[in-house]
Amino acid sequence: MIFFGSRSRQVKIGEGEFNCPVCNAERVYKHMRTTVYFTLYFIPLFPIRRLGEYITCQACNQAFDMRVLEYKPPSESELLVSQVQTELEAGMPIHMMEKKLLNNGQSAETAARTLEQASRKLLKTCTSCGFSYISTVTACTNCGGELKLD
Ligand SMILES: [Zn+2]
Ligand SMILES: [Zn+2]
Repeated sequence: MIFFGSRSRQVKIGEGEFNCPVCNAERVYKHMRTTVYFTLYFIPLFPIRRLGEYITCQACNQAFDMRVLEYKPPSESELLVSQVQTELEAGMPIHMMEKKLLNNGQSAETAARTLEQASRKLLKTCTSCGFSYISTVTACTNCGGELKLD
């Protein structure tokens, strides 16, 4: 009786460096390909078909789609904008957020630009105390007053 069948094998076809989204750092990757081989008496003889390619991180061993090589981590200023946006959406008044940025050592210019990007220049102002908020906030967190779009 002749034993024949197929077996898949992972073959390394390249390596390099990439930004691993799991490690959140620059890591070495292996570019792998899964190939199904025709086997005779359990010995792989020749490839039947290629199943796919993927990238594995050498630090966390996570497997990724090939597109992970195009992944770019957010820059420091992008991170700051999204942080500020989260706090503004939670109801922090604009002027307090600005103060916080300045206290954290940001320049007045950076603070202004970050607030502009985080709020997309759409602000609401409280009709009783005059505090300003990002447009997604529904009521004044300072006095509970009504907010009007600027
Ligand atoms: Zn990793
Ligand atoms: Zn108010």
